[in-house]
Amino acid sequence: MKTVIIGAGAMGSLFGGLLSLSGEEVWLVDIWKEHIDAIRSKGLAIEEKGKAQAVSVNATSDIASIGKADLILYFVKTYHTEKAVSDSLVLQKEDTVFLTLQNGLGNEETICKQVNRKRVVLGVTGQGATLLGPGHIRHAGWGKTYVGELDGRSTERSDRISQMFIKAGIETEVSSRIHDLVWEKLFINVGINALAALLGLKNGQLLDYPETMRLMEALVSEAVEVAHRKGIRIEVNPIDRVKAVIEATRENRCSMGQDLDYRRRTEIDAINGAVVREAERLAISAPYNQMITDLIKVIEKTF
Ligand code: NAD
Repeated sequence: MKTVIIGAGAMGSLFGGLLSLSGEEVWLVDIWKEHIDAIRSKGLAIEEKGKAQAVSVNATSDIASIGKADLILYFVKTYHTEKAVSDSLVLQKEDTVFLTLQNGLGNEETICKQVNRKRVVLGVTGQGATLLGPGHIRHAGWGKTYVGELDGRSTERSDRISQMFIKAGIETEVSSRIHDLVWEKLFINVGINALAALLGLKNGQLLDYPETMRLMEALVSEAVEVAHRKGIRIEVNPIDRVKAVIEATRENRCSMGQDLDYRRRTEIDAINGAVVREAERLAISAPYNQMITDLIKVIEKTF
């Protein structure tokens, strides 16, 4: 299976590096030339548990030079998905499969605007990675990855993707309820990211104050209410789950926090902003998510 990963930042490089190490034919595509040049000249440096290795991976900024793909995996930030999808149409053949493992809501809809939805597979990943510099990443998290068909059917292609990830050491399961799992991951991002980002806290510090706990619970509860109304089946206690993730990632500064620290745009529209949009569609209010979205948006406007 020829896999092309669009967006070779922290996560794209991690998946590309691991798949390449397992013998898969993989191409990394990124518009960041310095990063691509570094991977081409020195290999991709992956740090993992204090050890570093250089991995040889195909990498290019010239997407048209790759030819056709069997699988296209999107790992750009959510606000770049639309452009990434249009750029990637040149890779398309009759049976190309389009997969996203990005965070947040809306990626499926953005992809399906340009691609036949019968070809789209959705996923979420508990893997984590940090970009350290051009051609250099750290593998920072080892949670499970799920992939699944939009209609929940079991298919050979989702099995094949799952097997390919497993072979690369990425623990993966095919799920018949992938939308529910996207929401379960969303609750975690809704409860942690914007709050820790705005307050300048590491994840673990959210558990240290009654005020942050109250705010976290309010943000997540609004998202859960929206999910229930949409018919999403939630099999875990979302608040307990968020607390467990905070505990397990105590020392992390979340990605949205790093975005604000480095004065970069955030994925707020796909996280708390998405909860507000979905709530509006259902004619219910989500005031905590509205407020935190507005606060982040104002900070972004000052950059
Ligand atoms: P990142 O910023 O490190 O990488 C994104 C890359 O996409 C950048 O290198 C950028 O240059 C590139 N890009 C932008 N537009 C492009 C285009 N049109 N064509 C090709 N490349 C393009 O981001 P990341 O941390 O890897 O996150 C990617 C997605 O995965 C996000 O939705 C994020 O929320 C999600 N995610 C991240 C983690 C993590 O630990 N970093 C974990 C789970 C999910």
